[in-house]
Amino acid sequence: MRITFAAAEVAPYAKVGGLADVAGSLPQALAALGHDVRVYVPYHRTIDEAKFGIPASGRTRSVPYGAAHARIEYPEITRDGARVVFVRSFRIGRDKVYGYPDDAKRYALFCRAVLADLADGPPDVVHAHDWHAALLVPLAAKARELRGSATAFTIHNLAYQGRTSADVLRLVGLARSRLAIEGRDEANPMARAIAAADVVSTVSERYAEEILTPEFGEGLDGLLRERRDDLWGITNGIDTNFFDPARDPHIGAHYTADDQKGKAACKAALQKETGLSVDPAAPVFGVIGRLVEQKGVDLLTAVAPWLLEKGGQLVVLGTGEPAYEAKWRELAAKAKGKAALTLGFDAALAQRIYAGSDFFLMPSRFEPCGLGQLISLRYGTIPIVRAVGGLADTVHDLDAHAGKGNGFSFGKYEAAAFADAIQRALHRYRADGEPWSALRARAMREDHSWTASAKRYVEMYAAASKARRAA
Ligand code: ADP
Repeated sequence: MRITFAAAEVAPYAKVGGLADVAGSLPQALAALGHDVRVYVPYHRTIDEAKFGIPASGRTRSVPYGAAHARIEYPEITRDGARVVFVRSFRIGRDKVYGYPDDAKRYALFCRAVLADLADGPPDVVHAHDWHAALLVPLAAKARELRGSATAFTIHNLAYQGRTSADVLRLVGLARSRLAIEGRDEANPMARAIAAADVVSTVSERYAEEILTPEFGEGLDGLLRERRDDLWGITNGIDTNFFDPARDPHIGAHYTADDQKGKAACKAALQKETGLSVDPAAPVFGVIGRLVEQKGVDLLTAVAPWLLEKGGQLVVLGTGEPAYEAKWRELAAKAKGKAALTLGFDAALAQRIYAGSDFFLMPSRFEPCGLGQLISLRYGTIPIVRAVGGLADTVHDLDAHAGKGNGFSFGKYEAAAFADAIQRALHRYRADGEPWSALRARAMREDHSWTASAKRYVEMYAAASKARRAA
């Protein structure tokens, strides 16, 4: 199959969160299954041309945009069997992937530019990811040249829908006719993709069920229920070649499930690097993620003082809302040697935290899939999570699944419930039941590669093509 991806962030070129991990590794997994995959990503200004060998120029097109035309350039490279096409325009590329008042317009132009490039060689499937690429779905659905191309849309996070002024529709040549859930003069790119795609998916089975309810549906649960028969839940994998404690170039010592000695060295190195007291017996809790409400930051900051009192150490890496950053700063200042805080985005430090921690904390309010817990398991770091979305699908509580579990989880979004899960984890860490190394080995041996999920995507594409032919 010829499959085309479009996404705002693609690792390793540009990354803000999990979307980049998926858009940067699922294409390779599909290519390994023999498919012909092309990935479109905006040419963000931070992308390092020299490092990735991206040519200085590529084919150019003049793309209709409002009353005028925009000049777009498409330099491209091939990585592990998939073609990566960078969409370059001064109107799209900036220093940050998101966060500008005209994001809706930037990404609308991105979608229009991808459409223009596809018209010459239509793929079998156009697969758009999240709201930034969402308008590509209705654009592809109505383009004559793409009559034979099926469309798939994946929701990585329903909380970000890209709602904006309806003017954006005119800019890319879409009709203004409103969807029932859109306000007057409003366009909701994510809703339009959900309504128009041949198939819709999200990144775990549990989240696919949750989003059909008002609690998790972010106002789109009604529309999603209408599309229920075409809605797939496919759990994310991770790039197990990249996330591999046996050869990760960012960590100081390597280890495997069978020989875990290197993990203790990684822990000592992390304690030293982040200014914690170097103590092999102190359990280290890692936190990596966007500091936003979704990630349960208020639960984390509520239990942190208690956790430190219990003898735990905390390593936090994140960036996000200033109020949460301030709260963490205040906590870390009071707990020198016990809590370490890095505010910023640092992919290499993230690897050292995954490797050097004993536990990984992820008490999310909601979680479409979550990758932090999967990367942690791969590094033998035991996740403690709230049982929602993909976290519920991938983390199985050790007390509920004796001899089979891989972490600890709790249900109610409450500090007491979270603390209870941590308490149970500490108890097990310090007690002499199942040896800790055996639990770690089991976590590390779990298969969270793309192998199974990539095959499910192929099934989904076949269903999309069938639906398109029927239409
Ligand atoms: P989300 O996509 O909602 O942000 P996920 O758990 O799906 O959350 O994916 C987050 C990804 O981004 C993981 O690979 C995580 O390690 C990485 N990440 C998040 N914040 C940072 C940071 N500050 N520095 C480095 N990596 C980060």
